[in-house]
Amino acid sequence: MSHPLTGNRSEPIDIEARLTDVRGRIEAAAQRYDRDPATIQLVAISKTKPAALVEAALAAGQHDFGENYLQDALAKIEALAERDIAWHFVGDIQSNKTRDIAAHFAWAHAVDRFKIARRLSEQRPEGADPLNVCIQVNIDAEASKSGLAPNEVAELADRLTELPGIRLRGLMALPSYAEDLDAQRRPFAALRELRDEINARGHTLDTLSMGMSADLEAAIAEGATHVRIGTAIFGPRDS
Ligand SMILES: *Cc1c(COP(=O)(O)O)cnc(C)c1O
Repeated sequence: MSHPLTGNRSEPIDIEARLTDVRGRIEAAAQRYDRDPATIQLVAISKTKPAALVEAALAAGQHDFGENYLQDALAKIEALAERDIAWHFVGDIQSNKTRDIAAHFAWAHAVDRFKIARRLSEQRPEGADPLNVCIQVNIDAEASKSGLAPNEVAELADRLTELPGIRLRGLMALPSYAEDLDAQRRPFAALRELRDEINARGHTLDTLSMGMSADLEAAIAEGATHVRIGTAIFGPRDS
């Protein structure tokens, strides 16, 4: 039987306790790798989970939420319209989604084409702050994954500075799963080095969106500023 809160488990889920665990992992990793924990934002990835679970996380002090499926996200955003939430769109962006993303989100983490960025900029509502954007990088060259090849990132970064409705904040990666910490760190280190190269061209990128439930420690070791955590907070998703 499916539970009304989790949708896919028969046990209720203690979001507050799970958030406390995740915050503890972030703080422990920050301490171990000599990072200021205040420079690491936790983005709670609530995709496929009901608004009631977002409410539970809000009540436990969470402010930033990430979504991947636009229709599912828009329903939650509408249900929670009165609440103080920064919404992050972390999924791939097709042209037909840009208007809603520009209207309802504070961040888009997976931009990898100028055309999409230009639409987001043009469609950003007047009076709103620019949409914060990361370029998604296919950092470990997996043919099956989206994101720009590392050697194409600088050119796109340069072009995005022309667009007034967006603000390029940094780079995002979603490397394939690796078991051990050293293997997890390698692609995150490569993303950090790429960010440094882009900044050496005159950009001021301050964001590395990297690290999920299974590898947030490795990401923090390599400089993550935004960890995107779903399962560890909200439990497993139905696939
Ligand atoms: C689902 C998702 C996450 C969260 O993954 P978990 O392993 O559940 O923490 C992070 N980033 C993106 C882009 C996702 O799609």
